[in-house]
Amino acid sequence: MRYSSFFVGTTLLFTVHAQAELVINDSISSTVTPPSQITTPVTPVSDRFQSCLANLRSQAINSGVNASTYDRYTQNLTPDYSVVEKLNYQPEFSTPIWDYLSGLVDDERVRDGQQKIAQYRSVLNQVSQTYGVPAETVVAVWGVESNYGNISGKYPLLQSLGTLSCEGRRQSYFRTEFFAAMRILQRGDLTEEQMKGSWAGAFGHTQFMPSTYERLAVDFDGDGRRDLVSSVPDALASTANFLKKAGWQTGMPWGFEVKIPQGMSVAGESRRNKKPLSYWIAQGLTRADGSTIVQGNLTTTTPAGLMMPAGANGPSFLVFKNFDAIYGYNAAESYALAIAHLSDRLQGAGPFLTPWPTDDAGTSRAERREIQRLLLSKGYDIGEADGLIGDKTRQAIQKEQVRLGLNPTGRAGQQILRVLRNEQAQKMLP
Ligand code: CA
Repeated sequence: MRYSSFFVGTTLLFTVHAQAELVINDSISSTVTPPSQITTPVTPVSDRFQSCLANLRSQAINSGVNASTYDRYTQNLTPDYSVVEKLNYQPEFSTPIWDYLSGLVDDERVRDGQQKIAQYRSVLNQVSQTYGVPAETVVAVWGVESNYGNISGKYPLLQSLGTLSCEGRRQSYFRTEFFAAMRILQRGDLTEEQMKGSWAGAFGHTQFMPSTYERLAVDFDGDGRRDLVSSVPDALASTANFLKKAGWQTGMPWGFEVKIPQGMSVAGESRRNKKPLSYWIAQGLTRADGSTIVQGNLTTTTPAGLMMPAGANGPSFLVFKNFDAIYGYNAAESYALAIAHLSDRLQGAGPFLTPWPTDDAGTSRAERREIQRLLLSKGYDIGEADGLIGDKTRQAIQKEQVRLGLNPTGRAGQQILRVLRNEQAQKMLP
């Protein structure tokens, strides 16, 4: 597991991620809690931080950090309290799964991923042979985690993990990661300069936490260092190693979209509630394209769960053990589905056949940039048109929706895009 279990099913799950586009509220499972109060330091900040670090010294040494390593990396360390605010941040808007997936699995990411597969074909072949995980699945993780190495975070790890070890909730969790980060430096795998990541400490091409890095990172290019920051072969192999250790079954699918027959009871069905395929076949389930369930290496006894991320009226899936292996990467079903779906798209499959149960479908990153450009041209101060929908963009959309008499959801969906586009076109008319 990449994060400890307390993140499961909470909004925090996404806010610990490097990518701003993942700072969302998991509409499937979350309940919004009011933001916690941030403790105001009563003693001078630097004194308080340094005395906390002094108190952690023996704990660090017990965990395998040399005294000299600890002193060297904490001597001039300063806190960054902005990461404590991020820990306490609760998104103001919730994001439906169709918005989440349409941004993570869009034509742009499929095209970029296919280009990466071509570029790294020989190393990916070796990785697949060694770990038994398909190239497309490994590359899909890479694409979702860091947009193929383009967004891997800018927070110096020791600073953010050191701060979170001394302030806020979950200090003991972050201490484990803080010490692990120092042991990675001590081993010489990486330099301090290389260790930058998300505010919560996930870093590199595949956004491992330091403790995961220690357990599962591999040196695949043979230079003697496990480098998931600068070496793509190390990063790809480490991802495959992660999935293998998480129970990946070579030659088996993650799952596929299915068609639920009318009248079939789906109460109590879930990813976890696995039943042999014979059960689902007897219920009248077929693949979404109408073809038979048992194909390839599957048999009637293979266990599968029925996952319905937007209820029985949206796209529904039979999922196998390999889906759980992907889920282990970052415990959220929507997240695992993004990786699984992207891996299918990289193999040439199309979008899901069943539409999401909404009359306002989600937008690709290109369309989100277009919405932002349209808002900028109306004078909204929303920063750059980067396709990342943050609170500022959402608030601007909400204002526009109010003006237009639409439901003020703040969502960057197809509806607001269409309306703003039309307005712009009208303006251009003579
Ligand atoms: Ca290496």
